[in-house]
Amino acid sequence: MSITGKARIAGVMGWPVAHSRSPACHGYWLERYRIDGAYVPLPVRPENLEAALRALPLLGFAGVNLTLPHKEAALGLVDRVDAEARRIGAVNTISVEADGTLTATNTDGFGFLESLRASAPNWQAAKGPAVVLGAGGAARAVVAALLDAGVPEIRLLNRTAARADALRDALAGPIRTESWDARDALAGANALVNTTTLGMTGAADLEINLDALPEAALVTDLVYAPLETPLLKAAKARGHRTVDGLGMLLHQARPGFRTWFGRDPDVTDALRAHVVGDAGAAGNAAE
Ligand code: NAP
Repeated sequence: MSITGKARIAGVMGWPVAHSRSPACHGYWLERYRIDGAYVPLPVRPENLEAALRALPLLGFAGVNLTLPHKEAALGLVDRVDAEARRIGAVNTISVEADGTLTATNTDGFGFLESLRASAPNWQAAKGPAVVLGAGGAARAVVAALLDAGVPEIRLLNRTAARADALRDALAGPIRTESWDARDALAGANALVNTTTLGMTGAADLEINLDALPEAALVTDLVYAPLETPLLKAAKARGHRTVDGLGMLLHQARPGFRTWFGRDPDVTDALRAHVVGDAGAAGNAAE
């Protein structure tokens, strides 16, 4: 669809940014809903982030998504940070207000929960503990979202124990850290979430024995390249409900699109196929 002089403009800032799936996702929605708008990749070096953000209102942008390495730095560079972004310690969505000021939020936790709701609607958060592997940026959003959803206990395991302890201390709630070597101890868990990079194309596999995991437990992986990670394959073979990482990626994009372009977009199989097709040979990169 061609755009007019009145088109709404948004984009994604990253360095590098070529890996980002956001232009494919937003571009699909713009086309699908015949919206007069554009969503563009914006390669911004870390040292230029502040100037680039301050240029957004001058250029008439409605807002931007942020990807690596800007998510933490942006916290101190915008006018308003909402409670969610503050809690997660990172920003992934910025909107330009009518007065030219910048408001930041983080939609990763929303995307994670919406993906579970869409792909595993019968899974009930309150039914038991969740085991979360990893304590990086993505884990922080996931743990916060699981607590909000009513998970009674998080068992947090990370190769670097100090990072898990820091995450536990930063997010108040029933979070218990355990040794990375204890990851086969899955008895009683209602969910297993991989937030590490293990299992992603080009990375080592996640070594874990699922024998102790109760049959009703949900298994989900944030890695989305490949879509079916070895963890998800093993879980499926044991009869577990599984959710891949692509849903989170697509659902986290919805709030920004709604704010900038005025419509809550649908996450459909056709969108999934479009974004997977667009990825081509690119690696698994967090948005
Ligand atoms: P990050 O901050 O760099 O964290 C990486 C995590 O992986 C850390 O917990 C790290 O443990 C662990 N790890 C790396 N190599 C390991 C190894 N050899 N053995 C054990 N643990 C290892 O990255 P992130 O931003 O949290 O992203 C993590 C993954 O989630 C990536 O694959 C990313 O693409 C994916 N992700 C997906 C979505 C989505 O929408 N689906 C969104 C965000 C992220 P240490 O602390 O010990 O280094």
